[in-house]
Amino acid sequence: MMESARILAGILTAIAALSVFSFAGGAQAPAAHGPADLVIHNAKVHTVDPSRPEAQALAIVGDRIRAVGSEADIQAWIGPGTRLLDARGATVLPGFNDSHVHFVAGSSLLSQVQLNDVTTRQEFVRRVAASARELKNGEWVLGRGWDHEKLPGARLPTRDWIDDVTPDNPVWLGRYDGHMGLANSAALKIAGVDRNTPDPPGGAIVRDANGNPTGALKDAAAGLVERLIPPPSDEQLTRAIRAGLEEVRRAGLTSVQDISHAREMRVYQKLLAAGELTVRFYCITPIQEYEAPLRAGITAGFGNDWIRTGAVKGFADGSLGSTTALFFEPYDDAPTTRGLFNAMMLPEGHMLQMAQPADAAGLQIAIHAIGDRANHEILAMYEEIARRNGPGPARGRRWRIEHAQHLLPSDYDAFARLGVIASMQPAQAIQDGSWAEKRIGHERAGSTHAWRSLLDHGAKLAFGTDWPVAPLNPLLGLYAAVTRATLDGKHPEGWIPEQKITLAEAIEAYTMGSAYAEFTETQKGSITPGKLADVVILDADLFRIPPEKIKDAKVVKTVVGGRIVYSAD
Ligand SMILES: [Zn+2]
Repeated sequence: MMESARILAGILTAIAALSVFSFAGGAQAPAAHGPADLVIHNAKVHTVDPSRPEAQALAIVGDRIRAVGSEADIQAWIGPGTRLLDARGATVLPGFNDSHVHFVAGSSLLSQVQLNDVTTRQEFVRRVAASARELKNGEWVLGRGWDHEKLPGARLPTRDWIDDVTPDNPVWLGRYDGHMGLANSAALKIAGVDRNTPDPPGGAIVRDANGNPTGALKDAAAGLVERLIPPPSDEQLTRAIRAGLEEVRRAGLTSVQDISHAREMRVYQKLLAAGELTVRFYCITPIQEYEAPLRAGITAGFGNDWIRTGAVKGFADGSLGSTTALFFEPYDDAPTTRGLFNAMMLPEGHMLQMAQPADAAGLQIAIHAIGDRANHEILAMYEEIARRNGPGPARGRRWRIEHAQHLLPSDYDAFARLGVIASMQPAQAIQDGSWAEKRIGHERAGSTHAWRSLLDHGAKLAFGTDWPVAPLNPLLGLYAAVTRATLDGKHPEGWIPEQKITLAEAIEAYTMGSAYAEFTETQKGSITPGKLADVVILDADLFRIPPEKIKDAKVVKTVVGGRIVYSAD
């Protein structure tokens, strides 16, 4: 009897505790965890949690969100030590999660020659000359971001533009999409590239009428020069990453999915140990090196709340801007080409040889595919892997296609059927929209950046930027997804307007969608009690302002794991 009475008492206590936890519709009672360390109130909280889509306030204890509710619900969480943040009626969102960045490339760029906004040859040359003056003879002038579509006549820059101002320094200037670069004569000379050098597989050396290299090198040909650039020292790398972290905090990003190398992950780990890491990393490593995580027994999502890994990335093709994205039909403005397979796809079946064992071992596969044929080939490869490997790991597979930019409408279904996440970059649609149609024609453009069609066919979207290809700013991405208004102002009602999505859908892709893409949707991606306290406060009510103003909204505060890591003031 005594024994059963004690059990009964225990059960009653447990029930009492449970009822406390279910207080206020999902908000947990302060008695259990409170008072809060941080309360954000007077907010339009858009939670991305369908069980409570809107709220006015939230309470954070330690690194977790503990309660979400009305102003009155959250009052009870405020104690003498609670820090209060007044959102002034503006939107509060789950921290943004960029599903595709090149973190170190973007970070290093912060100290390189910036050519993103250059529209004249004079300015192009002026910036390269200014950088060369700062360096010792023989040191590399590095830069990135040029786009010949913005230059007069849309002609490619050539080495003679810059040779006069860089006689003693090799130069390498990447196109903004990373699929082409410009070398000066000094760099070509060190690389041994001249009129007799054949185009490498998966690449092209641009030549003038006499067959001499102009300095522009496409895709694999860029490697002829890039491999000669000395890697940064540990100190330079750490300095660059610190600068990148600052950019990311300012942009309201609390997670990034990074195309990483082992050496970079080591620096992230060092910064984490030093308490300096302010964004969560999901590290996606090169598929050519899949055997390293495989042998170590690493599977998708391995790691902790700050640094995870277990995904591998390959390339199926190039880019639209460099006419190396692979299509079924020729380019309208370059009828002799349909684009190029990336070298990893050659010989046929090579990608499958890497992806199949990686999948069998539980690694996540992410493949870059831009052109409709590249996407089609990768979907077919995934189908083949499913056939060979069977249903896959218990956690479920989450294959990804990075960019998924130009699709055959008949391929939309395959994304949902195979569970392939479309990891896409909305800001690129409004960048490319100014010139893409002359390259691929109106009909193919209709299934370009096809967010609406993909969602309607049941596919999952994850949003990001491919930084430094596009700026980090997620608000520009939301604006692009909602308006499709190209940056040149020529499509104010939207380029291919039928592919617009709603603001709520775009926010979901940038938060929950990205979390799903890295297996962390139970830990982040929405403002839900129990999840990590990764939150961003904006300066406007995004759902009230006209859509064209979304790009002008600013991040006021970025909170990661309950810590305020960025304040606009
Ligand atoms: Zn990329």
